[in-house]
Amino acid sequence: MPAPLYVSTRGGGDAVPFREALLDGLAPDGGLYVPTEIPVLPDDWASASDRAALGATVLSAWLPEVTDLGALVEDALSFPIPLVSLGDGVHVLELFHGPTLSFKDVGARTMARLMADALQGEEVTILAATSGDTGSAVADGFAGVPGVRVVLLYPKGGVSDVQERQLIVARDGVQALAVEGTFDDCQRLVKAAFAERAPGDRRLSSANSINIGRLLPQMLYTTWALRQLGEPGTVVVPSGNLGNLTAATMAMRAGLPVTGFVAAHNANDGFVRFLDGADAPASASVPTLSNAMDVGVPSNLERLRSLFSDADLRALVHGETVTDHETLAAMRRVHDETGYVADPHTAVGLEAIRRRRADGVSGPMVVLSTAHPAKFPDAVAEATGVTPSAPPRLARLREAPTAVDTIPAELDALRRYI
Ligand SMILES: *Cc1c(COP(=O)(O)O)cnc(C)c1O
Repeated sequence: MPAPLYVSTRGGGDAVPFREALLDGLAPDGGLYVPTEIPVLPDDWASASDRAALGATVLSAWLPEVTDLGALVEDALSFPIPLVSLGDGVHVLELFHGPTLSFKDVGARTMARLMADALQGEEVTILAATSGDTGSAVADGFAGVPGVRVVLLYPKGGVSDVQERQLIVARDGVQALAVEGTFDDCQRLVKAAFAERAPGDRRLSSANSINIGRLLPQMLYTTWALRQLGEPGTVVVPSGNLGNLTAATMAMRAGLPVTGFVAAHNANDGFVRFLDGADAPASASVPTLSNAMDVGVPSNLERLRSLFSDADLRALVHGETVTDHETLAAMRRVHDETGYVADPHTAVGLEAIRRRRADGVSGPMVVLSTAHPAKFPDAVAEATGVTPSAPPRLARLREAPTAVDTIPAELDALRRYI
């Protein structure tokens, strides 16, 4: 079967192969690339011996042009992804043991290798708007990839100390920019830079979840979790820009036995309201404890709505809103009951699970745990009284040299860097 092609969610332009969708990031009409078809997951996925084998099984029909997918996945995912049981059928898939301690390492590291494979001597500047974790995962994942420059935009004052430190560590070929504005401003600037490309400009691409190259590898770990679970289950996704959820629904469409999805949001819950029948969200983001989920206008909703009808999406995904107060309470409750220390993002998912259980929903539930608790030591200590011990690589950050410029939230200011 030929590999899927990719079309814009907005219907403009032709269907393109993966390489072009990956290198372009955003479709020329401003839409997001979606696959024209979803290859069926091969029957033997549940017997794959390890993650490299599973990676090859899940992705080979998507990426037949990549010669050794198993080796590529193994090299990208050189850290554990354990599935931890908290009892009562609740499982935590810890996706945060990579170099920058968030799940974004999985997508970013795999995507960097796919891009190195696709560039074939071309050069590209990657623009990434980050609400905290994308930027450092992308900077880390792409460090050392020849032909790639990275420009990171993050909301000044909108990320935690540890996150900022991870973003502004001096890295070869990486420019960090603190934008005087919100994450939505950063995202708007990136979109504007794409929209106003001039013919002679260097090739621009994206590495956040608007790039389909991040979403394909993200299908892997939901599959990995269900392979370890050995039975169908509900997948609970602490959500912001909805990339993680979109990838998980693509895995289900490919044939993964998922019984349902829960989108767990903080106060930035426009998607939850959309699932309840409201219009697509258009409101500004508000700051919360789970700041990597502070997204007012989730980009990937456009993708979800092109993959599913609104009615199907509302039937498939259940939404929950969790306030900061409830997040801290969930961290405390889970720690008291099980001894498990969760970061605020994961705790939003764990609170959503508590409510589903209270509503009578049974069966296994897997929360995609997106960040290491040591990234949010203040919130963890406040909720549980425990100060999470920082992995050595986080401690080393304190001494590393940094480099960052501050810019106003204006396209002209950004253009000077690209
Ligand atoms: C990015 C991020 C999220 C949200 O993921 P989306 O794919 O944008 O929905 C949740 N938690 C953490 C820790 C993140 O870094």
